Amino acid sequence: MIASTLAAIADGDGAFTIEKIAVGSPSSDEVLVEVKAAGLCHTDHASLSWKRPLVMGHEGAGVVREVGPGVIGVTPGDRVVLNWCIPCGACFQCQRGDTVLCETSRPAHVLEPSRGHAHAEGTTWRGRPVDRSFNIGTLSGLALVRKEAVTPMPAAVPFPAAAISGCGVMTGFGSVVNVAQVQRGESVVVLGCGGVGLNILQGARLSGAAPIIAVDTNPAALERARTLGASDTIVARRDDVEMREVVEAIRALTGGRGADYAFEATSLAALAFVPLLFVRDGGLALQVSGINDPVTVPMPWFMWNKRYVTPLYGGCLPARDFPRIFRHYLAGELRLDELVTRTYRLDQLGQALEDMLTGANAKGVIVFGE
Ligand SMILES: [Zn+2]
Ligand SMILES: [Zn+2]
Repeated sequence: MIASTLAAIADGDGAFTIEKIAVGSPSSDEVLVEVKAAGLCHTDHASLSWKRPLVMGHEGAGVVREVGPGVIGVTPGDRVVLNWCIPCGACFQCQRGDTVLCETSRPAHVLEPSRGHAHAEGTTWRGRPVDRSFNIGTLSGLALVRKEAVTPMPAAVPFPAAAISGCGVMTGFGSVVNVAQVQRGESVVVLGCGGVGLNILQGARLSGAAPIIAVDTNPAALERARTLGASDTIVARRDDVEMREVVEAIRALTGGRGADYAFEATSLAALAFVPLLFVRDGGLALQVSGINDPVTVPMPWFMWNKRYVTPLYGGCLPARDFPRIFRHYLAGELRLDELVTRTYRLDQLGQALEDMLTGANAKGVIVFGE
């Protein structure tokens, strides 16, 4: 059966339109999800310019409508959260446990005539197959995805809270608990208190870190940071690129030495290596915001024995991490509803992207069918 639905289609040259798309039934290892909520990340704005038409969106949650004959573990009617790193479970990296580095991550409905899959209809727009952002494309009433892209979620979690867990929460929280593995009593600095940064703060609070120092240029963002776990806040001046005053303030809060960990979550290339200035000798700096632009760094910033990593997707292992995130949420330890500053309908996506770029929202979420 082929269903039609509305989707946000990026044109590849910086713009998008809301279009009618057609979505086929799932084949053997696929799941068709009725999307209920889709969160927005800066990556969605970037995806407008990826030089090809694309069903936008990579954060989402919804209800399973149909499953392929080879799918076990999820059935129609189940509530699920979607993940954009879709591990195969069998390749070299998956076998090592580094599932975010899966070497064979692929979309639903790759036609494999040799395997008799030529019946597949997949997702089509204007009669032709169209890609889904990160192989899930959640800014669409229906998402046809591989079964490894969905994880069942408790009914008590609202869809907008679940949707943002799919990327922003997972990336921030996971970078702390899975990648840095921050321990009780260790010190943490978070540079940038947007959707990802606030979840780094929450991960640090849940790990028992102290102090937890939030740095931002925007006093309103620091106010939010305080309510979500920051013990100390520092207002940075925009013109102080090397953040001399901030470095001094951090030293004063960490025994003169610098923090054990510093996380960058600003998406600003000029700040990519600044966390190295915040950590002590031998400390760990993490660049979490996925900066792709060329940057230069004075090599002495790495002295002495400072380490620098750019973790992907908070080391997400869906079956381990989403249940853990929802457990913390239901216990009142991880705040998700507070991060959803505003919800929009799909036809308000332009406004939602604009609000994201101006920093008006911690997270904006598109809700469907209301
Ligand atoms: Zn994202
Ligand atoms: Zn794999």
